[in-house]
Amino acid sequence: MNSMHVFTASLTGLFFASFLLALADRFISKKYANNIKGFLCDRSSCDYCGKTIPFYYNIPLAGYIISLGHCRSCKNRISLRYPLSEVYGLILSLFSLYRFGFNIQALVFFSTVAVCSTVVYADIKTMEIPDSLLCVLIVAGILFSLNGGFTKDSWLGFASAGGAFALFLVVFPGSFGTGDLKFAALLGFFTGFQFVLVMLETALITGSIFGALYAVTSGRGLRIKIPFAPFIAIGYITAILYGADILILYHNAFAP
Ligand SMILES: [Zn+2]
Repeated sequence: MNSMHVFTASLTGLFFASFLLALADRFISKKYANNIKGFLCDRSSCDYCGKTIPFYYNIPLAGYIISLGHCRSCKNRISLRYPLSEVYGLILSLFSLYRFGFNIQALVFFSTVAVCSTVVYADIKTMEIPDSLLCVLIVAGILFSLNGGFTKDSWLGFASAGGAFALFLVVFPGSFGTGDLKFAALLGFFTGFQFVLVMLETALITGSIFGALYAVTSGRGLRIKIPFAPFIAIGYITAILYGADILILYHNAFAP
């Protein structure tokens, strides 16, 4: 790892995070519901006065710093979600570099987790998983195939994660959304068949614990609906980072 690697990873992290947040915000915004051209072509604008933001204020982090956190036209405070998501992207890209090295594997991990984080953001805000965000996983899929992905194991991972959620939906109608099914199936592609079990199990355990705690502390009982994408994302990250260790633990526990 040298300074050039750190520099490249940092820029990738900052710009990709900024792009994904803009994409998620546009998907969530009602303004773009039937306006594909605007969705793709509109320049970024202030949340308050709607004035177009000059490109140099759109540079991740630097734009926030030179504008001192305020819109140049209406002087309103710029939402902290912009610099925070950019810092998050930066940390995630440096972690990927540290964990996997300067290679395609790091880029696949970074891009899938960045998209997962955006899906989580959208799911928490709207209780929906936008297809447009799932489409960004195709970028990660292309990188993955360059790195020798697209094997039988990947397809089995895709089919088993999707199949498991389809089964949940049949047995417990309304428990999850079809967005959860698509999200889990696509991630199953990246974990491969072996680690799908780790991903689903981690998602169900963390989701159930959180759901039970939330039901008790909010006093609203079990009828409350919680977004499930955060737990699928936790499951995915656990499977990729610790899947092999967890499977060895299982093996030692259940095999003589
Ligand atoms: Zn403004």
